[in-house]
Amino acid sequence: MKQNKALKFETLAVHAGERPDPASGASSPPIVQSTSFVFRDTDQAANVFTLKEKGFIYSRLTNPTVSALEEKLAALEGGMGATCTASGLAANMLMASTMMVAGDDFVASRKLYGGSMGQFRDSFSRAFGWKCNFVDPTQPDNFKKAITEKTKFIFVESLSNPEGFITDIEPIARIAEGAGIPLVVDNTSATPYLCRPLEYGASIITHSTTKYLSGFGNAMGGSVVDGGSFNWMKRKDRYPALCGDTHGYRGIVFARDFADAPFAVHNHAVGLRDLGMQQQPMNAYLTILGLETLHLRMEAHSRNALKVAEFLEGHKHVAWVSYAGLKDHPCYKMGQKYMRGGMCSSLFSFGVRGGFDAAVRLVESVKIFKHLANLGDAKSLIIHPASTTHSQLTDDQKIAAGCGPDVIRISVGIENPEDLIADLEQALGAARAQAA
Ligand SMILES: *Cc1c(COP(=O)(O)O)cnc(C)c1O
Repeated sequence: MKQNKALKFETLAVHAGERPDPASGASSPPIVQSTSFVFRDTDQAANVFTLKEKGFIYSRLTNPTVSALEEKLAALEGGMGATCTASGLAANMLMASTMMVAGDDFVASRKLYGGSMGQFRDSFSRAFGWKCNFVDPTQPDNFKKAITEKTKFIFVESLSNPEGFITDIEPIARIAEGAGIPLVVDNTSATPYLCRPLEYGASIITHSTTKYLSGFGNAMGGSVVDGGSFNWMKRKDRYPALCGDTHGYRGIVFARDFADAPFAVHNHAVGLRDLGMQQQPMNAYLTILGLETLHLRMEAHSRNALKVAEFLEGHKHVAWVSYAGLKDHPCYKMGQKYMRGGMCSSLFSFGVRGGFDAAVRLVESVKIFKHLANLGDAKSLIIHPASTTHSQLTDDQKIAAGCGPDVIRISVGIENPEDLIADLEQALGAARAQAA
């Protein structure tokens, strides 16, 4: 499909990036399970190697199935290009590697996915010398105070996992702009259907496509979307990979020569080439299929989550419910501003009366909810962080991370909400019997 700016989200979700296969006419995107691609002639081969012409060489850099997914994701975020990766954490890695030099730093929200926090705090600093300054995101000014001469970007989550904190993107984007650095937003939990951070001044979007985008818990993946509007050349010395000539493509300056989407072109031509965290074609295919129903699923996820949250809030064995779609949640107003129709996706936590033992018993008693460590699946999911994902922390650390002994995290699926509520009701009864 030719890109048409006037098309609405649902139409782009179904069609963007997809076109009949020129060889067979196949309308479903072919899974191009090939490492390499035959050149037309030696001139074309030379041209694709020097980036003078677009074309496929080797699937570590680009692959037709993965390209179709990249085109669809860029269209859905309103960006100019995208680069898919093996996982969401690989997307963080690729994004940072393009901007950072050893000894640089970046500023990140303290309310992030635990895996991103660990990556930023431990492996980034030890292996690469990239320092992360974590700040409390409830006051946008905290980001400004943490910026140094060596800061290369700001990183936040639009809707944080697992806490459900909704970031006030606009003022943080203005702070980034004032400092001449891009704002990067991890849009995994909101998805572009609920929130489009580029429209609020963000410059780069990252995703774990493993979650809602693929949607069925069957394909790992990540992506980095280039908004295309950040002016890298304004401070050439700051971003040598994009504004210099140090990458083996003689004479090419990415920010000058690929002005539409320099970040995305660099991420393929240099990032994936040198770091090798490309996405596999089969996973790209599954994610393309998932994206065709993203708008329908996000509506159902959010609608069901609100119903389940309201039920839990009124239940006598539940101490508290933290879902941004509920009017008494501190992020409710931000949800009205940044999330389509105030819909807040499907991940949230609640506290069971009876503490650790009651929480474990609840997880053991559910029948429809699946006990596993993921989110954004069509199936409803449940986990008790204190005995699983956060079990290595001390009790104090667990409470600080919002994962105390009574905390249950659920990702509400797209089943019938009455069945989900009945399942939780019987499991809460069983948990109570245990505690009594
Ligand atoms: C899961 C997740 C990631 C990491 O993605 P993987 O695909 O598991 O590597 C990053 N950010 C958020 C918000 C996530 O939920």
